[in-house]
Amino acid sequence: MFQLLVNFHVRTTRWLTNVSIGVRLLSLMGLAVSVSLVLAAAGIGGLAASKESLRSVYEDRMLPVQQLAEISQLMLTNRLLLQTALSKVQPDPATGRRAAWVMDREFSSMAAHAIEKNIETINTLWRNYDSSSLPPAERALADRFAERRSAYIKEALLPAVLSLQSNQYASTQVLAAKAATLFEKAGPDLQALNRLQFDIARQAYDKGVRRYENTRLMALGTLGVAVLFMSWLGWMLSGSIVNPLKQVIVIFQRISNGKYDSTILVDGHDEISEVMLALGDMQTKLGLDEEAIHQLAFYDPLTKLPNRRLLRDRLQRALSLSSRSRLYGAVLMVDLDNFKSINDTRGHEVGDRLLVEIAQRIQLCVRQADTVARLGGDEFIVMLVDLSMDEAQAALQAERIGEKILAAISQPCMLSNKLHHPAGSMGLCLFVGQSASMEDLLKRADISMYQAKNSGRNALQFFDPQIQASLEARMALESELHEALPKHQFKLYYQMQQDHRHGVLGAELLLRWEHPKYGMVMPDQFIPIAEESGLIVPIGEWVLRSACEQLTVWAHKPVVGEFLLAVNVSPRQFREPDFVDMVDQVLMQTGANPARLKLELTESLVLHNVTDTIVKMKALNQLGVHFSMDDFGTGYSSLSHLTHLPIHQLKIDRSFVHNIASNRNDAIIVQTIIGMANNLGVAVIAEGVETPEQRACLERFGCFAYQGYLFGRPMPLPEFERLALEASTV
Ligand code: C2E
Ligand code: CA
Ligand code: CA
Repeated sequence: MFQLLVNFHVRTTRWLTNVSIGVRLLSLMGLAVSVSLVLAAAGIGGLAASKESLRSVYEDRMLPVQQLAEISQLMLTNRLLLQTALSKVQPDPATGRRAAWVMDREFSSMAAHAIEKNIETINTLWRNYDSSSLPPAERALADRFAERRSAYIKEALLPAVLSLQSNQYASTQVLAAKAATLFEKAGPDLQALNRLQFDIARQAYDKGVRRYENTRLMALGTLGVAVLFMSWLGWMLSGSIVNPLKQVIVIFQRISNGKYDSTILVDGHDEISEVMLALGDMQTKLGLDEEAIHQLAFYDPLTKLPNRRLLRDRLQRALSLSSRSRLYGAVLMVDLDNFKSINDTRGHEVGDRLLVEIAQRIQLCVRQADTVARLGGDEFIVMLVDLSMDEAQAALQAERIGEKILAAISQPCMLSNKLHHPAGSMGLCLFVGQSASMEDLLKRADISMYQAKNSGRNALQFFDPQIQASLEARMALESELHEALPKHQFKLYYQMQQDHRHGVLGAELLLRWEHPKYGMVMPDQFIPIAEESGLIVPIGEWVLRSACEQLTVWAHKPVVGEFLLAVNVSPRQFREPDFVDMVDQVLMQTGANPARLKLELTESLVLHNVTDTIVKMKALNQLGVHFSMDDFGTGYSSLSHLTHLPIHQLKIDRSFVHNIASNRNDAIIVQTIIGMANNLGVAVIAEGVETPEQRACLERFGCFAYQGYLFGRPMPLPEFERLALEASTV
């Protein structure tokens, strides 16, 4: 039974959610009407039954009782009439004898008449008393009473009427006695019949009352069941509407709180199910929109890395977490080397693809908890968290990760069918707790990154507070550097180059900045600034022009007319698209002999964009200009590249020359360079020759051209000319 109810409940629930709310309400109303109709019908039926019972009590039972009572009454009246008539006697006036008593004629005739009428009424009443439908016991009684009644009427009453009418006292007296006897005989039957009628009436009445009770109970019971059923149905119905509505409200509240992950299960087909489905769609769309907004607000659209804003948030959090844990963290700033030239020469699309590639590489080097962000351009920030509690250990960890990142960045990368060799510079600073503000940290990483860039490409540098001060000085220097050229603050110094027989070959031109306040500023201090700011382009042109002018001045003079002048060319200057034209112009305008001009290029300059370099070098070579490879041995020149370049001289870097006599390795490197130059048919010159031992060593190894303090420091032109002439005349 219970199982049945449960099944019914489950089925109803399923049905409810599968039909529309309108159908549900209509069904409930229909059911309510049906139940009311059934109840009303049952009530009406019950009332009709009780009415029928009561009617039968009255009509079938009480009416006969009344009839019988009337009969009995009439019989009693007859007796009384006879007795009264008999009592009104007087002696017969004719005879005067007692035996001839006569009744009051008038009364007797009236009594006879009344009795006659009574007999008639009794007969009528009896005829109406229908004994045919009576139960057997009653019928037997009725039959007996019928016989006695007819005996009473026929044998006593009717003769008594005649005797009354004829005023015969004696016979009336006899007949009255007989009537009394017969009445008394019939009396008990009548009473018994009456009692029986009463009993039966009582039973019918009881039955009616019971019927009424049953109807009442049935009506109450049915009403109770109906109320229960309707309540259950109403509860189910309201549940089927209210519960899903509550769910809808909860989802709406969650959505308005910005939560779009509510689970929406729809298994019905009603209006609320449709609302739920629409809500599900809305939730998904809002979620996607919010995701897109979040993405736009906090992520770099190109690399999908966190942007500056998100980095700030995370850094702020990392600082407060670190102040609790006391674990060090680090901020690494990565800047791609030469990214701008890739962007300029290969187009922004290639630049963008490189940035995406680099972003992925950096991300692979860090842990989940760390953050890689792009601040714009080619600048990336890596935030490392939860390093060691020990500063030195944390620095080591950060450095290792930094190196790993730089190594990953410098892997060759194929872009638009061309192999690139990206490189990056990295500035690093540590943090613990709230010791430094977020802005300070970013500034520090930035400063150390610039320092790394200056110390050479593909380098990593830790932040040092001293750097900040020097950086500020450097910035001041840069603004003053802009004024240096128009204010004629640059001077050119000449450093002699000699051969192994003390013959003067010429000089390298070295730039000096005669600053009104700081005095002589050396090129190491300002060339990198000029390079970065682009000032090197006009400055370099000025150096070249000065050199060419000097060559023209010397051209037809003895001794100096044979000199070669070496001019340093910076990468930035060489990368200028019109560099070749500029050199051509200067040569033409000054009338200098290109064969006397030697341009010093560094390895990194040459290797940066080999094809472009080769084109430019060949064009310049066509003009008659020669090239010397400066600082040779410090870079990573591959021989195969060198063979393609129109190079005339390798300039052995002074760092190898410095220890040539004492360090075997350096000696071997120098020997290798000389051997390589010989094989390529290229001349060699050694710079930074300070001692006769060094010079002797070089000569022994087969290097016959030298530059260095041993032969002369860089010096102003008049001094150089004097020294050169002196040397030549020796
Ligand atoms: P560099 O091209 O390698 O120049 C040689 C440097 O070595 C010069 O330093 C010179 O003074 C120094 N030197 C020469 N002989 C000796 C020696 O025997 N021992 C030692 N220890 N050093 C020696 P300087 O003049 O300070 O120039 C530094 C760098 O500045 C140059 O290195 C060059 O790269 C750059 N530079 C100088 N003038 C120019 C210029 O006009 N244009 C460009 N683009 N760069 C320049
Ligand atoms: Ca040089
Ligand atoms: Ca050099």
